[in-house]
Amino acid sequence: MAHLTLAEYIWLDGAVPTRNLRSKTKVLNIDPATASLDDFPVWNFDGSSTYQSTGSSSDLYLHPACFVKDPIRGEGNFLVLCEVMNQDGTPHKSNTRAQFREILDAGGSELQAWCGFEQEYTLFQNNRPMGFPEKGYPAPQGPYYCGVSTEDIYGRPLVEKHMQACLTAGICFYGINAEVMPGQWEFQIGYRGNDEEDTSAITMADHLWIARWLLLRLGEEFGIQPSFENKPVKGDWNGAGCHTNFSTLHMREEGGIKAIEEAIERLSAKHNDHISVYGHKLDERLTGEHETCHITEFKAGETDRGCSIRIPLHVAARGQGYLEDRRPGANSDPYLVAARLVSTVCEIEHIELNLDWSLEAILNA
Ligand code: ADP
Ligand code: MN
Ligand code: MN
Ligand code: MN
Repeated sequence: MAHLTLAEYIWLDGAVPTRNLRSKTKVLNIDPATASLDDFPVWNFDGSSTYQSTGSSSDLYLHPACFVKDPIRGEGNFLVLCEVMNQDGTPHKSNTRAQFREILDAGGSELQAWCGFEQEYTLFQNNRPMGFPEKGYPAPQGPYYCGVSTEDIYGRPLVEKHMQACLTAGICFYGINAEVMPGQWEFQIGYRGNDEEDTSAITMADHLWIARWLLLRLGEEFGIQPSFENKPVKGDWNGAGCHTNFSTLHMREEGGIKAIEEAIERLSAKHNDHISVYGHKLDERLTGEHETCHITEFKAGETDRGCSIRIPLHVAARGQGYLEDRRPGANSDPYLVAARLVSTVCEIEHIELNLDWSLEAILNA
């Protein structure tokens, strides 16, 4: 039965160096029970207000790419993540999802790569991280990670609400934990033991962007501003990362440790190419302290949290599974991170990622 549905169209803007999420609502007349991507029409927006075009020719197109249930508006409504296209139908320079698709189409999809993202973030209220006093600092790090008690934990009602919302939406949500710095949390997206679920790298990157949107959106209701900054508090306080767990079909199969070691070889030769897409001000986080490896160094190891690439203990023990890239920052774009991982591991050298989508660069091209 047809029914009025609210579809929230979500896309990435062209802000430099770190993009923001934007969204607007469309009323549609579709049957929620049988909704498919084709039910959501192409739409347009004013790119001159999102750092994506100039006022004289401002319209850009939104092409629906992935949709989930809208857990805020409830049953029968949807969140629709979109790719931004030019007037001629080609991908806009800022469309990093299209760049990732290009790498998958050039042979990358043969890897059957999965990604699992560990998104760390910091909750701000009154312009400071929750748990930080008006003046000075809280007690040093130690009790906060995975803590419980009103002294150590800040923002849990929002964190819980976000987790429930992601589950209701149908996002492949894996878990949460309180982090090392007060007011800092992590959620994970990715494979959770069910082989029936699509945990392909592009779908998990879609889910991560939608989960980020939901966190920001629910934060509005609590007067809390989630931040994806890499190093929200300077000094002896942990930064925020987005560890990316990565596997190919070969890595997941028996004896996959060989494929993992081979991938690490390839990754070691491309360290700088990876760092360049792993987030703004990554150098402030990858200092060699606070469970990181220095930004200029590449180290791989089993279980060592001071590594660039870690082979989790249970993966080493089983001799198959996945690797963890610990370098990506909390503000990294999962499309670019996944695209770089796939292109390095698959040795696709002929496709460059476009890293400058600033309006200035587009106009001067
Ligand atoms: P950590 O021990 O580093 O804190 P977490 O428990 O936070 O790790 O997260 C583990 C992540 O690994 C999850 O996102 C999960 O979906 C992902 N993962 C598990 N198996 C695979 C796999 N085979 N390929 C890719 N990612 C995986
Ligand atoms: Mn984790
Ligand atoms: Mn963490
Ligand atoms: Mn991790």
